[in-house]
Amino acid sequence: MSKRDYYDVLGVSKDASEDEIKKAYRKRAMKFHPDRNSDDPKAEEKFKEASEAYEVLSDSQKRQRYDQYGHQGLNGGSGFGGRGGAGFEDMGFEDIFSRFSDIFGGGDPFGGGQSRGRRSPGQTGSDMKLRIELSLEEIAFGTEKKLKVKKQVKCDACNGTGAETEDDFETCGTCNGMGQVRQVRKTMLGQMVNVQPCPECQGEGRIIKEKCSKCHGEGRYKGKDEIKVRVPSGVSEGNYITMRGQGNAGKRGGDAGDLVILIEEKEHKHFERDGNDIYYDLVLSVPDAILGTEVKVPTLKGKAKIKIDEGIQPGKLLRMKEKGIHGMKRSGIGDQYVRVNVYIPKDLSGEEREHIEALRGNDHFEASNKEDDGKGFFSKIKDVFT
Ligand SMILES: [Zn+2]
Ligand SMILES: [Zn+2]
Repeated sequence: MSKRDYYDVLGVSKDASEDEIKKAYRKRAMKFHPDRNSDDPKAEEKFKEASEAYEVLSDSQKRQRYDQYGHQGLNGGSGFGGRGGAGFEDMGFEDIFSRFSDIFGGGDPFGGGQSRGRRSPGQTGSDMKLRIELSLEEIAFGTEKKLKVKKQVKCDACNGTGAETEDDFETCGTCNGMGQVRQVRKTMLGQMVNVQPCPECQGEGRIIKEKCSKCHGEGRYKGKDEIKVRVPSGVSEGNYITMRGQGNAGKRGGDAGDLVILIEEKEHKHFERDGNDIYYDLVLSVPDAILGTEVKVPTLKGKAKIKIDEGIQPGKLLRMKEKGIHGMKRSGIGDQYVRVNVYIPKDLSGEEREHIEALRGNDHFEASNKEDDGKGFFSKIKDVFT
């Protein structure tokens, strides 16, 4: 499939300003955000496409290259591809997603000027992934978790600079403090200027004369952190929460990476989940089903009583309104459904057998597959749902 022109993707002209590009991207990203288009599989593609276009057009160097050479100018190749060369296509959907928004952010997920430039002196820390297992009760009402995390933390002795004292820096002689070296090369596409981070100072523009004794010049060391995360109600297995700047500390004052928390749902001993609703299997004795009774059933908040009507049928669903999961954002509160089953005993004693035998042939106990309304057993169950 041939790629669409990035300007067309964002619907802007070739000479659009940075601001126009940003606005156009935001508009599209909001429109095709998968969170709002869960029933449209094409939205994810469009979201990706717009993000990719924005990634290029918002970066003046990449944009220039694109203007000059088109898509080809951006495909891998030596000297191309900013950070580590990983193109957008190589990234999973989740990666793209977490770069631009936080699913639980609410409101405008793209606001707040959170774009991570390369402003800080050192190298950005890596992102971390962590899984947390939640019970259905925690999911139902939301919870707060304290996580103990082993990660790179900023060195407190040098405040992340990596130098023993503030005076222990000198300007890098290789790049004269620019942090970059330029090379002019001849290629198939003509002469090309290749700008690379300075190998001497790793793009930092300065060199440490005396390294911090605690972190050996890294500006960070392996440590521990305790992170509090608020998990909103209604999350599902596979959701994740991105905590900006809570990943590994950057090298020598670089920005910290993100911490991505993946949600896992523990199996519940009583309930099955369906969206915000939960199901519970209740087993009644034959006399209770025939005569009616009141029983206690577990709910997400302790036990609750429900009334069993006389002559209740197996398969019947009883609805306990708003006893389910508190949904995410404004999706409401789910219900608890109690599915009625009847326990049929085996190995009866002689006396019991006589009682039951006496009921056989009794009109009232006669099973009928054709009731007055002409509906069979299964269509009756279905009625409950409609
Ligand atoms: Zn240090
Ligand atoms: Zn240098």
